Amino acid sequence: MQTLIEKITPESLEKAKRIILDNGVIGMPTETVYGLAGNGFSAESVKKIYQVKGRPSDNPLICHVHSGYDLNSLVYIEHDYVYDLMKKFMPGPLTLVFRSKGVIVKEATCGGDTLAIRMPSHEGCQRFLESVNLPIVAPSANLSKHTSPVKAEHVYQDLNGKIPLILDGGKCSGGIESTVLDVTGEIPRILRAGLVTQEMIVAVVGGCEIAEHKETDKVRSPGVKYSHYKPRCETKLFSVSQIDQAKKFYLESEETGKKAYVMCSNAVAKEFGAFNVLNLGDTEEEIAFNLYDKLLEGEKKADVIIAISMPDEKGVNMGIMNRLTKSCG
Ligand code: AMP
Ligand code: MG
Repeated sequence: MQTLIEKITPESLEKAKRIILDNGVIGMPTETVYGLAGNGFSAESVKKIYQVKGRPSDNPLICHVHSGYDLNSLVYIEHDYVYDLMKKFMPGPLTLVFRSKGVIVKEATCGGDTLAIRMPSHEGCQRFLESVNLPIVAPSANLSKHTSPVKAEHVYQDLNGKIPLILDGGKCSGGIESTVLDVTGEIPRILRAGLVTQEMIVAVVGGCEIAEHKETDKVRSPGVKYSHYKPRCETKLFSVSQIDQAKKFYLESEETGKKAYVMCSNAVAKEFGAFNVLNLGDTEEEIAFNLYDKLLEGEKKADVIIAISMPDEKGVNMGIMNRLTKSCG
């Protein structure tokens, strides 16, 4: 199969719609990462998603809808605080986990009784979702376990020949996956950290827990148990207080003939003077924006990426550290 990359135009949107209505799957831009999109009402389409990615069949998909879509047709909204969250953060990088009405095919929710829903703010994605006017289920558009794609070319590198079309919406402005928030309980609970932070949710709702992902948790996010986001090269993670160890490891790697790159924030990059550096930038938002792009750049030119942790796990750093630990830890 030939994989086309097309900018978002009325013609490419029409092509995308035809593929989706024909139970196919496409690469779709969002403001977080690129998604592998299929029709949430079609078992055939959903099966293709799992097949193309090699995704474990017990890891459910997020359902994406345009901002005018009636969520009541898909899920039960059980708590009033949800409306405040929706008003503040939707459309945007927040996924809400509701009790499902069971209208999305069971393959997408892995037979579970909850459904995760998101309204992407990416303008091209909204146009696509409005044009199909269907609940579009989508995981990240990478092969399972690999680093998530934040550019159309990243999707192409993983899925070339496996899907007919990638809609090119430019580099994702967010850069890490959405915050996944369980809203089935009295207090919302973060299942996966992201750009909508615990602090931001507390400011709206008054409380917000962080799931520990224990077997006993009522709604767990199966995805968090898998190995994830790995670039195709060796990786090693050091904390900011281990700069000297990181330098030693770098030099030892080079001595054994390996090409080493340090991946760190701009502030920490200064410590590494003349070393090869993948610079993630200054602010938390900038670091999230660059993280996967730098990992994917790094796997091409490095034998080993030596990543340096963020200074804390507050705010967006919680989501960044979650990805960094999984990709490089
Ligand atoms: P991905 O789209 O590949 O970034 O993965 C989606 C994430 O959302 C995974 O961690 C899933 O386990 C999680 N997720 C999707 N649906 C649900 C759900 N109904 N309940 C809890 N977590 C979910
Ligand atoms: Mg993923």
